[in-house]
Amino acid sequence: MSDSTLEHLSARSAHAVEFGRDALIVCDNLVRIYQTGTLEVQALQGLDLLVDAGEMIAVVGASGSGKSTLLSVLSGLDAPTAGRVRVGPWDLMSMTGRERVQYRRAMVGFVWQQTARNLVPYLSAARNVELPLTLAGAGRRERRARRTDVLELMGVGYCADRRPREMSGGEQQRVAIAVALANNPRVILADEPTGELDTATSHEVFDALRAANRDLGVTVVVVTHDPTVSGQVERTVAIRDGRTSTEVLRRPAEGTGDEGADVIAEEYAVMDRAGRVQVPREFREALALTRRVRLALEADHVSIRPDGSGRP
Ligand code: ADP
Repeated sequence: MSDSTLEHLSARSAHAVEFGRDALIVCDNLVRIYQTGTLEVQALQGLDLLVDAGEMIAVVGASGSGKSTLLSVLSGLDAPTAGRVRVGPWDLMSMTGRERVQYRRAMVGFVWQQTARNLVPYLSAARNVELPLTLAGAGRRERRARRTDVLELMGVGYCADRRPREMSGGEQQRVAIAVALANNPRVILADEPTGELDTATSHEVFDALRAANRDLGVTVVVVTHDPTVSGQVERTVAIRDGRTSTEVLRRPAEGTGDEGADVIAEEYAVMDRAGRVQVPREFREALALTRRVRLALEADHVSIRPDGSGRP
């Protein structure tokens, strides 16, 4: 083999190793197995996910599909059983305890479903926002400026002196996002942040997350079981049985490009790196596709047909 062929091959394999090299968040074949007694649950079964810096995505899926497990891994609270997970420069598989604390303070902010988990009940909204800044060693002047900025951005500047119980559920969640933004993280992770809210209020909370994404450039990953959120983000990733199964992308209809103009939402199946694609159950049932199917390469697509051989 010539030197140039070898060089070419090694460049290709180096490229293959660096799956998602340009992405901010990389989940590569993530596996998380929970062991309780003799029972083993595979919460993540080889999940691949790439998120670019500045994106806002929704992760949807039925209860038990692995959404919270994914978020626990990304937040540095839980370690996967196998696979690779990187957020910016942080390799979450090999972080020391000290690095984990640093990662959770500086790189990511969290918003949880339970409003009570997000805010300290006996502190005002302003003090809640200042808390992470104090932990990070920010001075008084900086804390004040930052807390005003993020509360205003979230549209809850008027709540600065209120304690959580003096605010509505929607206001509390918007203050919670302000707390998550306090230390200027690159990523916000939100686990069902609108789960306890009515539709109108949950739109307000989504708007607040979008404002953070748009105005601060923070990357947002929102986990929800509500499939209607697809209408509010550009990319929705669906998880089924611990793997990403489909993605819905929204983009302006051609020729417009205006905000608020018609959008086209298209659903894509996700192909993993070994080339596996999940065929939706409706499609399988409609054509009685079972264990064996026939694949054919056409000029511009691949077709899948029932086996038709009559053999079991
Ligand atoms: P979702 O957030 O989509 O509802 P989860 O990530 O919470 O899904 O759970 C995925 C699967 O893992 C479920 O079958 C759940 O019962 C299981 N699971 C989650 N956490 C644990 C745990 N700490 N111990 C054992 N099983 C767990």
